[in-house]
Amino acid sequence: MIEQVPSKVDMDKLVSLCKRRGFIFPSSEIYGGMGACYDYGPLGVELKNNVKKSWWKAVVQGRDDMVGLDASILMHPQTWVASGHVEGFADPLVDCKQCKQRWRADHIKDGKCPACGGELTEPRMFNLMFKTFVGPVEDEASVAYLRPETAQGIFVNFQNVLNSTRKKLPFGIAQMGKSFRNEITTGNFIFRMREFEQMEMEYFVRPGTDEQWFKHWVEERFNWYTNLGIKKDNLRLRQHAKDELAHYARDCYDIEYLFPIGWSELEGIANRTDFDLKQHAKFSGKDLSYFDEETKEHTIPYVIEPSAGVDRSVLAFLADSYDEEKDKEGLRVILRLHYALAPIKVAVLPLSRNEKLLPISREIHNSLRNCWMVQYDDAQSIGRRYRRQDEIGTPFCVTIDFQSLEDKQVTIRERDKMRQIRVPIEVLKSTLDAKLNGEPLDILPPGGKKWLGFEG
Ligand code: ATP
Repeated sequence: MIEQVPSKVDMDKLVSLCKRRGFIFPSSEIYGGMGACYDYGPLGVELKNNVKKSWWKAVVQGRDDMVGLDASILMHPQTWVASGHVEGFADPLVDCKQCKQRWRADHIKDGKCPACGGELTEPRMFNLMFKTFVGPVEDEASVAYLRPETAQGIFVNFQNVLNSTRKKLPFGIAQMGKSFRNEITTGNFIFRMREFEQMEMEYFVRPGTDEQWFKHWVEERFNWYTNLGIKKDNLRLRQHAKDELAHYARDCYDIEYLFPIGWSELEGIANRTDFDLKQHAKFSGKDLSYFDEETKEHTIPYVIEPSAGVDRSVLAFLADSYDEEKDKEGLRVILRLHYALAPIKVAVLPLSRNEKLLPISREIHNSLRNCWMVQYDDAQSIGRRYRRQDEIGTPFCVTIDFQSLEDKQVTIRERDKMRQIRVPIEVLKSTLDAKLNGEPLDILPPGGKKWLGFEG
């Protein structure tokens, strides 16, 4: 449920920036679009990949107790019977008798149609899973579903991972990938899509230690967002009330973000007990228990599930980093993205198109692009080019001028405060590497100096 309070960032501004600069486009736009589906453009795909990389680094690469998985989207249909999705993954819907629009009953406040105030029908349940057929015959026996969450791929592989990795409790399995839901209430840009990406993990623990691990993951996941630059004021935890919890869940917290549309769920963290493994054991007839070497007993582990949306994270990172500053040339728009998330890390900008600057500028570009996504831009004034990079969140611009030909030094200009340093070309790569990893700009490399030249 969205709590409507004003956020500092206007959604229209974000949508327009995303379209104009190639972050996010409406899907199949030339045919009039495809409801609640979006395409990531050249900068968007970089940003989204960086979000996923940062998540993987935090939950898999950086931990001894986690492994990764990439399960297929099409799964055995029994999976969704066991998980409860066939029976219960449904929203209550109401129709307006007057204007015929359809709404989610749990989003209606005063019993009237939000569009025209008309009378509404009684709620009916609507399953959100996309159905399809596998093979040449379209009958009940060939029905399959596009997965509505990635999590079930983890549960059905629990024994495979256990046997192949010999992991001991507590340990977790992480997976990210596409999920599909035939959502009814859409229209809030990439907040609610019909095809979206999730970053989910299941952390298996000994029963009795679940509350402690639940607390651990709530904290870990909250800190992941703030470590990547989300302002604490825009993030909050909301514990689910008892009547909101699924019957098998012991506890659940939402990490909520103050989106341009109001406070809403960014990630959910649930203590799902042993429900999922027990269900899959029951429906598959396979033993999904864990043999505990310490107690010499078989147990069904409890599971803590932090479940995040890639696209909602992208939206939160965009909204949180969007900034505007008035200056003598008008408005400077800046995406103050964390360096790890910025789509382009460095822009190489020769001061002009003068052919004397070309060879050295190209050489610098070629050497840096081995390490990062780097853009080369020599069109229009240097001030305009700085603005263009600020607007897409590029942390550093490297400017090559005529003096560079003499002293073999170039200027590094940073995005946030527009400060500049001058560094020898031979230490440019290592300097940028250090700065991108958080070294303060005023720590200068050998031969470097603070530069009081032109301001962008
Ligand atoms: P909501 O209540 O907003 O529909 P949910 O509680 O159904 O979300 P979960 O099933 O817990 O969501 O999914 C985990 C995460 O996946 C959510 O926190 C969200 O970030 C993301 N997510 C879920 N549905 C969508 C969607 N339709 N579009 C984009 N992201 C989604």
